[in-house]
Amino acid sequence: MAEYHTFSTEDAMRFADEHSGLFGDHSKLSCEEFGDGNLNLVFRVSNDKGTSLIVKQALPYARCVGESWPLTIDRARIEAQVLLKHRKLCPEHTVEVLHYDAEQAAILMEDLKHYRILRTELISGKQFAHLAPQMASYLANTLFYTSDFALTGPNKKQQVGKFLNPELCLITEDLFFTDPYCNHERNNIHAEIRQQAQQLWHDEALQAEVAQLKADFLSKPQALLHGDVHSGSIFINEENCKVIDAEFGFYGPIGFDVGSLIGNLLLNYLGHFGLTQDTDARQQHQDYLVSQVQSLWQEFSAQFTQLMRSECHEPALQNSLYQQRFMQQLWADTLGYAGCELIRRTVGLAHVADLDKISNSTVRGQCEAKALQLGRDLIMQRHSLANMAQLMQLLHSLS
Ligand code: ADP
Ligand code: MG
Ligand code: MG
Ligand code: MG
Repeated sequence: MAEYHTFSTEDAMRFADEHSGLFGDHSKLSCEEFGDGNLNLVFRVSNDKGTSLIVKQALPYARCVGESWPLTIDRARIEAQVLLKHRKLCPEHTVEVLHYDAEQAAILMEDLKHYRILRTELISGKQFAHLAPQMASYLANTLFYTSDFALTGPNKKQQVGKFLNPELCLITEDLFFTDPYCNHERNNIHAEIRQQAQQLWHDEALQAEVAQLKADFLSKPQALLHGDVHSGSIFINEENCKVIDAEFGFYGPIGFDVGSLIGNLLLNYLGHFGLTQDTDARQQHQDYLVSQVQSLWQEFSAQFTQLMRSECHEPALQNSLYQQRFMQQLWADTLGYAGCELIRRTVGLAHVADLDKISNSTVRGQCEAKALQLGRDLIMQRHSLANMAQLMQLLHSLS
């Protein structure tokens, strides 16, 4: 294989042609690069019969910043291997990888052209009853079956070693847990919430809790995480949803994946205070989001608990009191990481359209202030919020 080089559309077509039996006659292929992500190139290769595939290639730097931010292309291996593993554990809700090429850091995968990105759909007010149950199933299966409850000690440790992913983890370590809590040049703070953002830099009690969540992120290899389960990494349509973009995958705390998703649903909830003027329509959509957060946790925890009871082969971990405590800690972790997501998406480098799209900057500032407040409450109260009902109370006390 040739040495790594950045793909042209020609290269992407050749790559797709070589590694799939789908296309046949190369001359009839067409290709466009359409990636809208922060890091990588994404090509769609189509033939004239309407068949298409996706080629995703890692660049040796972060696309959103440029060559001044070098980044390992080994992240394509992580992405391919996490997706392959997760697809084995949850085929319905994981995108299919057809081929991975280490030299070119390129992945050939199914084209989800009959799906839309969840974030866009939620911003436009679309609702899908199957979102929470399907994502609960994805999270329960991928996380349980890569944890110590399911893997033997030596096998687990070998897996942990395969997915260390230090460079991408460092991005999360910085952007999630460090930057928002100090005056960092990478932060992106709108003028309207400058004062509330500055309070984060001097909030020692909050910083102590965030330090704990970061320490766990650094040293709690519970399961093979997706590592970037925001609503831009989920494709959805009327029947199904599928997860993409697992380059941040590594063995970390389970609550990080669950909390990231809940955090994104809450960001959309807060965004609609500014995105939707009609109060009935807004209330209806926010009720939908609350019900999704509730059912996500309910179904995730029920499935994870069921799997612990029936599929755990490690004698000591079969203890039911231990399992209860484990779920209690996981709930607290989930709330904490959801809170971190709210804060870092509001004042950190990478914002979300759910807030940024609010056209009136005063209203946007009010929504962002709510995100900071809710984020702080979730982090600080994660051990005392006993259940989902109390979380909902917190949400309602905001407005
Ligand atoms: P990045 O890692 O750079 O964020 P993503 O994997 O999130 O890249 O992909 C960026 C965009 O490319 C997605 O938002 C989506 O529009 C498109 N895309 C990625 N994978 C697929 C796929 N399998 N099918 C259809 N579109 C895709
Ligand atoms: Mg992405
Ligand atoms: Mg991205
Ligand atoms: Mg990505």
